[in-house]
Amino acid sequence: MEAYTRDVGRGVTRIDYESMDALGASTGDILEITGKRRSVARCLPLYPSDEGKGIIRVDGLGRNNTGVGIGDTVTVRKIKTVPAEKVIVAPLDSIPPIDERYLTDSLENIPLVKGDNIMVPYFGGRLTFQVIGITPASDAVLVTPKTEFHIAEKGESLRGVPQVSYEDIGGMSDEIRKVREMIELPMRHPEIFEKLGVEAPKGVLLYGVPGTGKTLLAKAVANETNAHFISISGPEIMSKFYGESEARLREIFKEAKEKAPSIIFVDEIDSIAPKREEVTGEVERRVVSQMLSLMDGLEGRGKVIVIAATNRPNALDPALRRPGRFDREIEIKVPDKKGRLEILLIHTRNMPLHEDINLEKIAGSSHGYVGADLEYLCKEAAMKCLRRLLPEINLSDEKIPPETLDKLIVNAEDYQLAFRD
Ligand code: ADP
Repeated sequence: MEAYTRDVGRGVTRIDYESMDALGASTGDILEITGKRRSVARCLPLYPSDEGKGIIRVDGLGRNNTGVGIGDTVTVRKIKTVPAEKVIVAPLDSIPPIDERYLTDSLENIPLVKGDNIMVPYFGGRLTFQVIGITPASDAVLVTPKTEFHIAEKGESLRGVPQVSYEDIGGMSDEIRKVREMIELPMRHPEIFEKLGVEAPKGVLLYGVPGTGKTLLAKAVANETNAHFISISGPEIMSKFYGESEARLREIFKEAKEKAPSIIFVDEIDSIAPKREEVTGEVERRVVSQMLSLMDGLEGRGKVIVIAATNRPNALDPALRRPGRFDREIEIKVPDKKGRLEILLIHTRNMPLHEDINLEKIAGSSHGYVGADLEYLCKEAAMKCLRRLLPEINLSDEKIPPETLDKLIVNAEDYQLAFRD
């Protein structure tokens, strides 16, 4: 299962006491977790409410490192680690120049195996690397304060990290559950649908105001199912490719079939397929027909699923919502206070926060804010903090020393200032 929010990115896994006994392991031991690939994590107990369900909780990075999705089965055993002397990592994205000691500080006590992807919080964001070498050569090593990191050249052929996983989406547990049933299940287990003689959905409509996380949700489900993800935006299709919109749509569906399983995400679909009586131009009419015929041409075996987002479901051409097309809908609501708190926790996960910050209070006073607003608020607060400390930072240093980075702590006043903007 997915990890508890507080565990994400900490290199831990949780199992119940019964399983710990069976493995001869206790809290704090290192467990090897094997799915399609092998990785390691520190063992912690599940919350009492999860006890006895026979589950293991692993975060999105851990699922990526072991090549599994939520609900898959893994093999677990207790192993011993040795202290890492040297770890060679290759960045998965472009990174700013950083002092390698920063990696040692951030990853202390985290167990690693060669091939693992790792994430390092970096002032509000995160840097991602793949472990390409460890010394001493051992099954698994543990990062200690003495571990030396070496950053190698950016690798091309490295496996990417999941850009978005379900743990990165706050205040949407119901919606995630629905998406998992409607999209993830048929993608992972088409045989269930075949056996039952029912068609897997081809299209799912997500509706809600902008910034509530519809794109995020579509990306997360693509990542969790290892599906190829193609994102198109309605207005872009209509304008940028004006005159060749239909050909572009055909290309997209072709690519999706070739690289299946795939998810095609169509943002603001109402701009491609408004109600036909509202359509004036010949081009629009042709694009709508093309979209419908491409959807009808999909096999309905869950290999290609089109997720469309709209703010105005009622403005859509009803033909699109007929059976076999976008016949499932999920409403994505503006988050309530609890949802806002979850979202704030996500966007401050990699942010050093001063203890005077009360996220619950911020959640309480941000009524009407959607996820995108809350993300912006957190980023702004981080910028306020940076500006406050700028005089102390010597930007001519080639690499900012970790001692200086340690001073960057976002406080309540930074948030207050960010609120005012
Ligand atoms: P939409 O597709 O509904 O317009 P997006 O998914 O593009 O919204 O959201 C924009 C950004 O806002 C996301 O990349 C994410 O950082 C943040 N965000 C939005 N909703 C949420 C959420 N529920 N939880 C966490 N972050 C969110």
